[in-house]
Amino acid sequence: MTTINIQKWVGGSHFEYASVEAPKLKIGERLVKMHVAAVCGSDRHTVSGRRPGACPSVLGHEGVGTVVMGPDVEKRVVFSVTSVCGQCTNCARGLTAKCERVMKVGHESFEGEWPLSGTYASHIVLPEGVTVVEVPDSVSDEVASIAGCSVATVMAAVEAVGTIAGRDVFVNGLGMLGLVAVAVAKSRGASRVFAYDPFETRMEQAFLLGAQPIKPGEEVDVSLEFSGSAAGVSSAISVLGIGGTAVLAGSVAPDGTIDVDPEWMVRGWRTIKGVHNYEPRHLQDAVDFLSTVELPWDTLLSGPIALEDLPEEFAHPHPGLRTLVRITAPSD
Ligand SMILES: [Zn+2]
Ligand SMILES: [Zn+2]
Repeated sequence: MTTINIQKWVGGSHFEYASVEAPKLKIGERLVKMHVAAVCGSDRHTVSGRRPGACPSVLGHEGVGTVVMGPDVEKRVVFSVTSVCGQCTNCARGLTAKCERVMKVGHESFEGEWPLSGTYASHIVLPEGVTVVEVPDSVSDEVASIAGCSVATVMAAVEAVGTIAGRDVFVNGLGMLGLVAVAVAKSRGASRVFAYDPFETRMEQAFLLGAQPIKPGEEVDVSLEFSGSAAGVSSAISVLGIGGTAVLAGSVAPDGTIDVDPEWMVRGWRTIKGVHNYEPRHLQDAVDFLSTVELPWDTLLSGPIALEDLPEEFAHPHPGLRTLVRITAPSD
């Protein structure tokens, strides 16, 4: 019988380190032994009370591990943040990201039907509706751990743009998603990549990845917005040139409304799109991207810490964009 160690979030900044027995799997479910989990900013918002979350629960929706039971056993995999039904109206029309019966990795109640939904544990249970993608040996656990949230979401945003090659791109908001977006735009042959974030250290990281600051009056073909602030959305839209497209992906909490001049939109053939979550193909795109680029990961990732040290990490976060939790060595 497999014993599973979990960091159960019990409200506020409190966690309980506990052991539970592995549940009996349903058909199509996988039990994945976690190697590395990444601490996403949205979990910090949940723990600090800025974002509602099921409680008690096992948080953590980014990570990589090996399937130890169920389909694809022994494969090293990353997984999507959503578990989808495949049958509702939105799933049927190819918009599984907005499945009407969606459940989310690391967001489900410990007392509900999917107690082991999070990656802050020795093992996670993945229902059949979660997409898994095998990770090639060339991608380390550390790098793979951010595929399922940050990188796959960027892939969905970039796909919504259409063509990147030969176009000028502006990336607004340089958390992990924005910095990955800079790297993706460069790798897909963007002509110039401009970036903005109020934090100087993040700007420097974007410059390392090939971005440049945007000057007043500059116009771009593509804007990718990850800050989620109303002011950030306004500026991402305002820099669009003729025929330009802005993709908004950061606005996942209310932050007021913005003014848009419809005449400017119409006469300029401009487009604004929203993207939330992503489709299974974007997780594959993410793994493909990570297997083909070398990024300065040391400057982007912090840790690793042990699973036992997770409460301390939430109380006193590492300064980097993502703190990694090393749960088991791949050879264990
Ligand atoms: Zn996340
Ligand atoms: Zn559905």
